[in-house]
Amino acid sequence: MKLDVNVLRYLSKDDFRVLTAVEMGMRNHEIVPSELVESIASLKHGGTYKVLKNLLKYKLLHHDSSKYDRFRLTYLGYDFLAIKTLVNCGVFVAVGRQIGVGKESDIFEVAKEDGTVLAMKLHRLGRISFRSVKSKRDYLRHRSSYNWLYLSRLAAFKEYAFMKALEEHGFPVPNAVDCNRHCVVMSLVEGYPLVQVKLLQNPDVVFETIIGLVVRLAEHGLIHCDFNEFNIMIDDDEKVTMIDFPQMVSVSHRNAQMYFDREVECIFKFFRKRFNMSFHETVDDENDVEIDNDEGARPCFSSISKGAGSLDKELAASGFTRKDQEDIEKFIEGGTEGDADSGDEEAESFKLDEMDTNVVEQQLHMSDEETFNCDESADCQRNEDSDRESDGE
Ligand code: ADP
Ligand code: MG
Repeated sequence: MKLDVNVLRYLSKDDFRVLTAVEMGMRNHEIVPSELVESIASLKHGGTYKVLKNLLKYKLLHHDSSKYDRFRLTYLGYDFLAIKTLVNCGVFVAVGRQIGVGKESDIFEVAKEDGTVLAMKLHRLGRISFRSVKSKRDYLRHRSSYNWLYLSRLAAFKEYAFMKALEEHGFPVPNAVDCNRHCVVMSLVEGYPLVQVKLLQNPDVVFETIIGLVVRLAEHGLIHCDFNEFNIMIDDDEKVTMIDFPQMVSVSHRNAQMYFDREVECIFKFFRKRFNMSFHETVDDENDVEIDNDEGARPCFSSISKGAGSLDKELAASGFTRKDQEDIEKFIEGGTEGDADSGDEEAESFKLDEMDTNVVEQQLHMSDEETFNCDESADCQRNEDSDRESDGE
């Protein structure tokens, strides 16, 4: 399904009112009866039904008429609510081309009023299954697709909170600009994912930097858990930026050692293969024989002095709770980008379609009168705790 922001141009205040009513109804219903949508939206003269038809036409809602007339949001409907809210808050004014398709996300360029280009990541949990978590996903698959929206929202919030905290501690991450629903807005990283880089001027320096980051993260009490060539961006000056944080865990996690070792091994393996770097051997000048030097080179989890707790505490203060972490861990723990399995048919599928690259300002700019501003949808940044708790099962 294509994110066609042109549709936003045709959506009226009433369309957003009804879309928001469905979202509100989904707090307590997997799929919302039309009467409830009508009573929340409370449009005059039964106007809700006409609007519902319009929203269905644009695939912003899914209609289930098997038992009663019931509706739920599609990812596209959720996208529009988030985009509209962020535009209303002045975070950006236009959506441009798609610049990335991750394992469970779509990334677009967005432009601020002054022309600055940012990156917008729309989380799409449930799009791709991972072998290691397939059974858990199978469990969820038989439940409502709303859970995917809930989990995508958690993933976005976690990503935003972690990015912000890491930035404050001097890690090379994008600047976390804002977050709403399943959408995170951040600075645009120049450069390419390391997986696309065939040649480096200083592979050893880049390697040291990356391993240094894994160690420094652990010293701050965290493990990235998906720190590999897909989630490391590198620019023309070979500066490293790390991205993609929804799966991060604390060093006190029961599988911390395994995650840490896996991460380190993954990086060693990649540099060995791609840049012909050798770690197991160093050449002894005198005898010209190879000596195993692996132990010295490889960081050891147990010998790192971990500042466990410090960043965890900050993150808890940001509103990302232990329950959030537990919820999200159940579903994205253990998956790495290389493990991507087949797509999940039950979740809406989103393909990398050609995006209209020039979406101009007024497409997203509706006048104030046109804009439905309920308290909740106007709240950019952070999905409120109470909301998220009641959103749960
Ligand atoms: P996923 O969690 O789905 O793997 P990522 O956060 O890794 O998503 O993003 C997927 C791709 O999108 C990245 O490999 C990268 O090419 C691009 N991307 C993500 N964030 C940014 C950003 N801030 N700036 C530029 N490109 C980005
Ligand atoms: Mg990624």
